[in-house]
Amino acid sequence: MKTCDLHTHTTASDGSDSPSKLVEKALEAGLSAIAVTDHDTTAGLSEAEMASKRFGIEFVPGVELSVNFHKGNMHILGYLMDQEDERFRQVLTRVQKARAERNPKILALLADLGLEISMDELKEISKGGQIGRPHIARAMVEKGYVRSVSDAFEKYLKRGAKAYAPKSILSPKEAIQVIRGAKGVPVLAHPFSLLSETREELDETVASLTDEGLMGLECYYSEHDDAFTSLCISLAKKYGLVVTGGSDYHGKAKPYIKLGRGKGNLVIPYSCVESLRAAKSNA
Ligand code: AMP
Ligand code: ZN
Ligand code: FE
Ligand code: FE
Repeated sequence: MKTCDLHTHTTASDGSDSPSKLVEKALEAGLSAIAVTDHDTTAGLSEAEMASKRFGIEFVPGVELSVNFHKGNMHILGYLMDQEDERFRQVLTRVQKARAERNPKILALLADLGLEISMDELKEISKGGQIGRPHIARAMVEKGYVRSVSDAFEKYLKRGAKAYAPKSILSPKEAIQVIRGAKGVPVLAHPFSLLSETREELDETVASLTDEGLMGLECYYSEHDDAFTSLCISLAKKYGLVVTGGSDYHGKAKPYIKLGRGKGNLVIPYSCVESLRAAKSNA
């Protein structure tokens, strides 16, 4: 069966592989198509696309936008956008600025706690890509302040923790509409991270996002078990949404997630790519 991976990160955000390296690894993993979906940036897409031509693997341009939600983490994936769309570019610039203002705030909160990290150290770790909390977590591990990246998130960086500073300035509706405006396909990323307590709660969230223009649901995902994947597929059917899937590969930044394979048993059918392309042309 042909397979794909529609959710990955490169050094353009908080992944550890360059866009070219990632595409090469997708070929080695036997995938038929690969998407790059960096956090709030399209900076890695042109390199990835050129590499995909060189390696002869189908490429799907993407992005992952962080949005405001009252609990858990809500991320909206966008696929196949016109990357030059003016409003799309403006929104990316706005969210990138919010990130750039947030990082020094987190460093100041850490410094107050006696944990010194400089902006230069972060730049070194991020290799020129957009800086996020995972880079700060890695700096904390390197300096011996915490034992692991997850330790850093638990004790200092997660929402509500001692050195947390908020960032999201986009509403889900704005993210969905700006992706649609750029002729892209907006997809709700990793629904498990919304921390819905019941089926009904998740159903209501998906219903309201669909009203706002959502077109797809990331059903296959590294952290979804079979039951949750089935629930997502049934919701996608109910609301006429495209079924997509991705591993959320970050390279060394999340060593337990393998490209195209997640924690080992993830299989994402290539039909997800065909459905995305069909949704774009029908929109
Ligand atoms: P940011 O973009 O700065 O808000 O950071 C989001 C990134 O942090 C995403 O790639 C998440 O996968 C990662 N992340 C969030 N929570 C944790 C955690 N508890 N442990 C490790 N990584 C995390
Ligand atoms: Zn990430
Ligand atoms: Fe995400
Ligand atoms: Fe992601």
